[in-house]
Amino acid sequence: MADHWKKRTKLIHEGSRRSQYGEVSEALFLTQGFVYDSAEQAMGRFEALGEDEFIYARYGNPTVRMFEERIAALEGAEDAFATASGMAAVHGALASMLQAGDHVVSARALFGSCLYILEDVLTRFGVEVTFVDGTDLAAWEAALRPDTKAVFLESMSNPTLEVIDLKAVADLAHNVGATVVVDNVFSTPVFSRALDLGADVVVYSATKHIDGQGRTLGGVVLGTKEYIRKTLEPFLKHTGGAMSPFTAWVMLKGLETIDLRVHAQADTALALAGALQGHAKLSQVIYPGLADHPQHDLAMAQLEKGGTVVSLEVNGGQEAAFRFLNALEIVVISNNLGDAKSIITHPATTTHQRLSEAQRAELGISPGLVRLSLGLEDRDDLIADLTRALEAV
Ligand SMILES: *Cc1c(COP(=O)(O)O)cnc(C)c1O
Repeated sequence: MADHWKKRTKLIHEGSRRSQYGEVSEALFLTQGFVYDSAEQAMGRFEALGEDEFIYARYGNPTVRMFEERIAALEGAEDAFATASGMAAVHGALASMLQAGDHVVSARALFGSCLYILEDVLTRFGVEVTFVDGTDLAAWEAALRPDTKAVFLESMSNPTLEVIDLKAVADLAHNVGATVVVDNVFSTPVFSRALDLGADVVVYSATKHIDGQGRTLGGVVLGTKEYIRKTLEPFLKHTGGAMSPFTAWVMLKGLETIDLRVHAQADTALALAGALQGHAKLSQVIYPGLADHPQHDLAMAQLEKGGTVVSLEVNGGQEAAFRFLNALEIVVISNNLGDAKSIITHPATTTHQRLSEAQRAELGISPGLVRLSLGLEDRDDLIADLTRALEAV
C-alpha cells in the first residue's frame, strides 16, 4: 500500500487482500486449514512460509493478516500479531521474551489481570518483578538494574488516568538494555505515538476502541518484524492465543471508523469534564485534557487529546456513588470501555474488588470514585443525564 497515505486512508484500505472475486468488503475466511496442490507444496510451506501463504489458523489466516497489517500501518509498526484477547496479548508479549532469573520493572497502577500476570504468573516461573509509581522517574531509575530485561507500563492508568512520561521511562530503560512494553489501551491507537516515543512493543486490548461497539474480544501485539516473527509468533502459535478470523473481520470494520469515533469520544469527554468541573456533588473531576490535571502538558504533548475516559469522585463515598450510577438513564452500568455506548463503573467494588483496601488507597481508588467511558451518543443528552443523576446524590 502507499506509504504517503494519511491515517484515515490507511484505516480504510491498508492490508486489504482481494480474492479472485474482487469483493469490496474484506472477505471473512472462516477456515481452520488450507489445501495444498501437492505433497511437495505442503512440505515447502512448512519449510518456509511465503507471502500470502498460510498453514493453519492458529498460525495465521488471511482475514487475521489483513487486520494485523492494517493496525500495524496505523501504529507505524513493522509488524503485528493478533490475539484472542487483550490478556493473551499482554501475556504473550511478556512470556515470550522472559525466562527464569530475568528482572522486570513495572508500573504499579495496572489493569487487574495485567497485575495478576506480573505479580502471580511470571514470578511463579522465576521472574523477579519490581513495582514502582509510574509517574515517579526517580523510582524507575532506582529500580532498573543491569539484568532488567523488560519494563511494563500502561501509558495512561486505569481508573485514575495518570499519564506516564513514555519517552523519559523508555530512555532510562534503554540505558540498561531493557525492552519497553506498553499497554496502550487508554491512550488508544488513534492518539498513540508510543513507538516514536521509545516503546519497543505496544499491546492493545482490541476489545475496547478497536472493536468500538462491544461485540468481540481481541488483542494485538505490535513491534519490530524481528520481535514479532522470531520471539512472539513461535510462542503464541504453539500456545494457542490466536485471534479468530470472525473477530479479525469485526476488528477490520472497527478500524475503518476508529479515527472518527475516538476523536468524537475524546471531544465529548473534554466537554463533559469541563461541564462537571467544580460541581458541588463532586470532589474531583479527573481528565488529562483538563488544564488542572497534574500531567496535562505531558498528556497533550504525548497524546494530542485527553482520551475517552473521565473519572469522577463523588462526595459521600460508595453510597453516594451507587445512587449516582443507579439514577443514570442513558449511561449504562458495565465494566468495559471504548464502546459506542457510554459506560460507567465503580472500580472499588468491581474491576478492582480483588485488591486490598490499602492497595486501592495507594492507587487512588477511593469509595466515591467512578470511571466513565464516553460513547457516541449526543453530547448534550449525556451531559444532561449525568448532571441530572448527580442531583439524585
Ligand atoms: C481491557 C484491558 C485489558 C484486557 O483486555 P481483554 O481484551 O479484556 O483481555 C488489558 N489492559 C487494559 C489497560 C485494559 O483496559
